[in-house]
Amino acid sequence: MNKAIVVGSINMDIVAFVQDHPKTGETIFGREVKYFPGGKGSNQAVSCKRLGSETLMIGRLGDDAFGGQLLAFQQQQGIDISGVRQLENTATGAAFITVADSADNSIVVVPGANALWDDGFIDELTIEQGDIVLAQFEIPDTVIEKTFNKAKAVGAMTILNPTPVRTINADIRNSTDLIVVNEHELAALSGREIDVHKDDTIFNGAARLHQEDYGTIIVTLGDKGARLVQAGQKHAIAARPVSAVDTTGAGDTFIGGIAAGLLSGLDLIRACELANIAASISVTREGAAASIPSLDEVNKLLR
Ligand code: ADP
Repeated sequence: MNKAIVVGSINMDIVAFVQDHPKTGETIFGREVKYFPGGKGSNQAVSCKRLGSETLMIGRLGDDAFGGQLLAFQQQQGIDISGVRQLENTATGAAFITVADSADNSIVVVPGANALWDDGFIDELTIEQGDIVLAQFEIPDTVIEKTFNKAKAVGAMTILNPTPVRTINADIRNSTDLIVVNEHELAALSGREIDVHKDDTIFNGAARLHQEDYGTIIVTLGDKGARLVQAGQKHAIAARPVSAVDTTGAGDTFIGGIAAGLLSGLDLIRACELANIAASISVTREGAAASIPSLDEVNKLLR
């Protein structure tokens, strides 16, 4: 059976709940601290796995306590962790998040081990024809280039989620089959103004990316659902109406849903419908990885 291979970040999210964010030079007391397994790579791997795929994680952790905890977390999820290395004398990636009573957050991400890859990683990686390889922008470009080039050489599919957004170099662009962006990333990459209420601005932005040969494009639009643009074909997927409590990780859930759906034999539109339902369930629950539903939950709602 083919598998999802996620090459990406693994972080510990350390969340302090505070009344107001501290000002420069100020020390304040917070109310509570919580630790959540995070990183876009890890979240997308959890989503692929919960939504039904065999999933291999390729990532880098430190040899500190967080590294051990995050490795154990992935293993508990049933993810194949044979591609995850713990580096000596290195800090595991961490996100320091303060959430104020106003619900505004501020975040400092320290990549740590996520930025430290040796060239040899690619030789240890086996990709098979029909596998789906996913990457995000929380790891160095060279790691994505090597992985996507190897994927294309064996006939695997590649999905790029370019977030946090930066310029996509030609090597990565040419080896990407499917790109998944939200409206902000689409605006940044296309240089066009995007209005989520106006489908023509979204399709125009996607058309601009098409000129640069980005393959198939999926734009996720929060409570406006998602839009799919491929080879002259446009398709709108309406969001499932829900009352959202926490949208963290919605995009990661969606992307895992696409990969898992395709791997189970669905066509791309049907895989998007599965992803859309999975993501709509995730926003009704707190947390990122913790909020991702199982395939059974999604199938009950999929018509
Ligand atoms: P990101 O977190 O990357 O910005 P989005 O906010 O676009 O991602 O959300 C990804 C997907 O999650 C959407 O395409 C949709 O399927 C689902 N989703 C997000 N917010 C809601 C919501 N309020 N109601 C229903 N579905 C939602």
